[in-house]
Amino acid sequence: MENTPSGSTALALEQAHTARNYAPLPVVISQADGAWVTDTTGVRYFDCLAGYSALNFGHRHPRLVQAAVDQLSRVTLTSRAFHHDQLGAFCAELADLTGTEAVLPMNTGAEAVESALKIARKWGYEIKGVPENQATIVVADGNFHGRTTSIISFSGDKDATAGFGPYTPGFRSVPFGDTDALADAIDATTVAVLIEPIQGEAGVVIPPDGYLRAVRHLCTDRNVLFVADEIQSGLARTGRTFACDHEDVRPDLMLLGKALGGGILPVSAVVGGWDVLGVLRPGQHGSTFGGNPLAAAVGRAVIALLRDGSLQQRAQRLGEDMAGRLDQLIGHGVTAVRSRGLWAGVDIDPAVATGRQICERLMRRGVLAKETHGATIRLAPPIIAETTDLTWAIEQLAAVLDERTGQ
Ligand SMILES: *Cc1c(COP(=O)(O)O)cnc(C)c1O
Repeated sequence: MENTPSGSTALALEQAHTARNYAPLPVVISQADGAWVTDTTGVRYFDCLAGYSALNFGHRHPRLVQAAVDQLSRVTLTSRAFHHDQLGAFCAELADLTGTEAVLPMNTGAEAVESALKIARKWGYEIKGVPENQATIVVADGNFHGRTTSIISFSGDKDATAGFGPYTPGFRSVPFGDTDALADAIDATTVAVLIEPIQGEAGVVIPPDGYLRAVRHLCTDRNVLFVADEIQSGLARTGRTFACDHEDVRPDLMLLGKALGGGILPVSAVVGGWDVLGVLRPGQHGSTFGGNPLAAAVGRAVIALLRDGSLQQRAQRLGEDMAGRLDQLIGHGVTAVRSRGLWAGVDIDPAVATGRQICERLMRRGVLAKETHGATIRLAPPIIAETTDLTWAIEQLAAVLDERTGQ
């Protein structure tokens, strides 16, 4: 291709013109296929991040690309000022997958979260009867729900919040996994409890068994909406369609994003019953791109991939294998491993190296991964990855840890 810059040119242009809100590993990707990406010099890497789980189905999954290409040749954008023929089917199919009734289509994850905050507040005023402007929403310490002003207002991460005030009021944060603290934080003004069923950015933090069921019970009991942010945990990553499925729990609102766009374009959604989503009337909320024909067509193809449950089973099977191999690294540069499905948080012994150093060394061995909060590496390869590739990638991690401890 004539318009393809070299790796060094690409880096120089980023250096000169791209805002520094990320610190990427020094790899310049120019192609990708399945679980593997290729840099501008032709070196291949196994992708253990999978776009923070936006690439659950791998890069350029043939059925997703086909759905996008077919739709590109028909119609891509109408705006919601008019109907188009993909939206109803997308919402119906997503409602069916989630066992609910209604869908609000948005684009990014943060938009889905923001939308849910608005819906929960409106529900609180119109249905629950909370006095105007008094609504509170309870969240969990260590949360990650996105980067907008309101969302960072209830983040505990100093990097995410410092310098961006004033913050949006109306939030209370309690320790994740602590049912008693949650019960204490709920009062007559509380409209919703917003949690990740498994905290992804916090390092794949899994709550104690029964927590999600307790949250469900508490929310029902106190007339509060249970809002589950499944943006990273949902759509087969944990070995079930949704992380809430592990405890057979149905939230009032479920937030989806990331993999819903198949790694092709941003697609997010708020799903729930009409008793809650019904509070939105025309003109009260919107998005130019939300639910556009291309997004709806790709979203439908994603839902179709999840229909028979085989990808969920594959995540479970590959995940058990991965967890078994990672557990063997405990005491060899790894202090703890948390995993559910094909999703693991690996805590690196700070005496051995930082998470970043491990990721840099992995990169040199052909494995791309990303640290979170300094000492934890999150492993979330595409679910379509081959067992042999995954085994090889974990061997590289073992070697990288050895390299260091051996010195
Ligand atoms: C990534 C993520 C978001 C935000 O999604 P964006 O598309 O980056 O806005 C929200 N919640 C969770 C749990 C996430 O992992």
